[in-house]
Amino acid sequence: MPTVFQYLDDTTTMLRQPPLDAVRHAAERVPDLSGKVALVTGSTSGIGLGIARALARAGTHVLLNGFGEQALIEQLLAEFRSQHAVKTAYSAADVSKPAEIAAMVAQGERELGGVDILVNNAGIQHVAPVDEFPIEKWDAVIATNLSAAFHAIRAALPQMKARNWGRIVNIASTHGLVASAQKAAYVAAKHGIVGLTKVVALETATTGITCNAICPGWVLTPLVQQQIDALAARDHLAPDAARTKLLGDKQPSLEFATPEQIGATALFLCSPAAAQIRGIALPVDGAWTAQ
Ligand code: NAD
Repeated sequence: MPTVFQYLDDTTTMLRQPPLDAVRHAAERVPDLSGKVALVTGSTSGIGLGIARALARAGTHVLLNGFGEQALIEQLLAEFRSQHAVKTAYSAADVSKPAEIAAMVAQGERELGGVDILVNNAGIQHVAPVDEFPIEKWDAVIATNLSAAFHAIRAALPQMKARNWGRIVNIASTHGLVASAQKAAYVAAKHGIVGLTKVVALETATTGITCNAICPGWVLTPLVQQQIDALAARDHLAPDAARTKLLGDKQPSLEFATPEQIGATALFLCSPAAAQIRGIALPVDGAWTAQ
């Protein structure tokens, strides 16, 4: 039992160090993930690049993946090595091909020491009415946006189990929670990844591994710019008007979420504070799914 004097002493110590400052300081601190290794699929652009940068700032070594010109890849590797002082490698794996995913996970193990954090982010879109949806586009969207996550989790999970620590973050979408017309394959894949997230969270519930999904609303990336361009052409709109219409139709905040915000959300899910957040589908969507 503490004595009254000890209690007073503790209290005065607390008064000499205002607790609010300590709280503010802790809240502003980037979680320390130094030494961990992250594989972020589709990290040569957009949201994946935002997530890879956020993780690298927290000290994580990063295996980048995605398509892009050789010069862009070299530039990204140089940026990660110089600005974040972490180890970086690159895999050109096409995540629609299971064998290339297995090779990419093995590369992470060989070159960086193992995949502790897996972010399934690579994704594509195709827009068409369901009865006109090209079969090869359906297959490509399902392979890239859904099956790729299954194959990557299947390949990376044994190492995470061996270390009893892991973070799996699946980038779903508001379209994992609600639908939009003309997006049959994308909506099916994103609902599927939310379901896969829950299964993996249940199977790992008693371990140090968590699995969660982030559901972004509109984020201004090349994937969305294509849809803005298509809208501008279809409705004869100027680029600004097309952008405003796209947001106004779905996203009540009338603002895009940013790759940096999705990166910060993924980083939080990888932090110790999120250790008991398991199996959720977290919207970052300007109130899209609140409607
Ligand atoms: P983006 O087009 O900017 O980036 C996609 C990335 O995936 C690129 O690096 C690309 O090279 C890579 N990629 C595509 N196919 C690949 C394949 N077969 N193998 C390996 N890499 C491949 O797109 P983004 O907007 O950053 O989208 C990233 C993720 O976020 C996707 O899963 C997308 O569905 C999801 N998302 C985006 C938005 C948005 O508004 N931008 C909203 C919700 C969800």
